[in-house]
Amino acid sequence: MSFYSAEPTPRTSWRQAVLMGVNSRTYKFALGTALLDLAKQGHDDVPLTVLAERYSWSLLTRAGNYPQAPATVALRDNDFLAILARERTESLTAGHPTEELVAAAEKSMPGMVMQKFHNLRGIGEVAHSFYNLHGPTRNRIVHLTPELHRVAAADDVLSHELDSRWTIVEASFDSRIGRTLIDSGVQIDEQGQDIVIPARRTTLTSVRGAIAGFQHGRCFYCHQEFEHLHADIHVDHFFPFSWMNTGSWHGPDLNHVWNLVLACGPCNLTKSNRQPTTHEVGQLLDRNDAIAESPHPLRRTLEITMQAAGTSPDVRARKRHDFVAAVWNHMTERSATTPSIAVQ
Ligand SMILES: [Zn+2]
Repeated sequence: MSFYSAEPTPRTSWRQAVLMGVNSRTYKFALGTALLDLAKQGHDDVPLTVLAERYSWSLLTRAGNYPQAPATVALRDNDFLAILARERTESLTAGHPTEELVAAAEKSMPGMVMQKFHNLRGIGEVAHSFYNLHGPTRNRIVHLTPELHRVAAADDVLSHELDSRWTIVEASFDSRIGRTLIDSGVQIDEQGQDIVIPARRTTLTSVRGAIAGFQHGRCFYCHQEFEHLHADIHVDHFFPFSWMNTGSWHGPDLNHVWNLVLACGPCNLTKSNRQPTTHEVGQLLDRNDAIAESPHPLRRTLEITMQAAGTSPDVRARKRHDFVAAVWNHMTERSATTPSIAVQ
């Protein structure tokens, strides 16, 4: 997978698991949060019950009003989400998950989420392992690997990415708005800062948190790694947004996910409204391919904005290339010195 080979590190494996893994529930995000939390505190081996408590609390305190499973899924009584709902009030009142809840988490986690965390649809496991389980069934120990510790050392950016991804997936599970996301994809606010739910105009999450991981948490232009995702990390319109206001613009809306990249302050200032290079176009295509690898709804957003039909990933990737090449060619029509890019 080109996303991994571009930067074969534990952080890339972590991003694959968090950004590109299959989501039928949000358990993976709760596990990721609990793991980062424990690793950051310096733990190497923790009883499964300790991980279960962090995991349950992470799910309980999720601030949004969104569901943690697709609205179309009917929860059985013994589904962990059903137990979570039953124990919610008592746990929040007590300030910690109830014993019943922790016990249920401890029982279900190994098979339900821990076995699946490292799995990616279609390509097997990610290249690094972040934990393993050992010890007798009744007293299981979770070993947190050195790879997890390396990942947790860059915790600020990865936590931000995980949180954004969690929010986007939750919203897509919500029957009131999920349909909108599936039909229309997410949209970007006028300032290009936040991802908003179409029609409602409510902010879902920041563009920074949503797309940083797909460019390896690095500046798109100088590749410097971000240490945080605060306001001095700029959301840059790859094809300059101002070009849409020239009167002669007949291309697509440039204020969309496919055209937004993150840049450090100096690069953003230097780039200004200059034309991207062909090398940078290639990088944008790779970045958009990575987003297209993530399950709903960002993938759908790309498909819709690029009007990409077809069923096989190859076809879609080629259409994404053609789409960007067409924008490039439209932009360079008036410049005889700029080479055009072949539309395949
Ligand atoms: Zn830079």
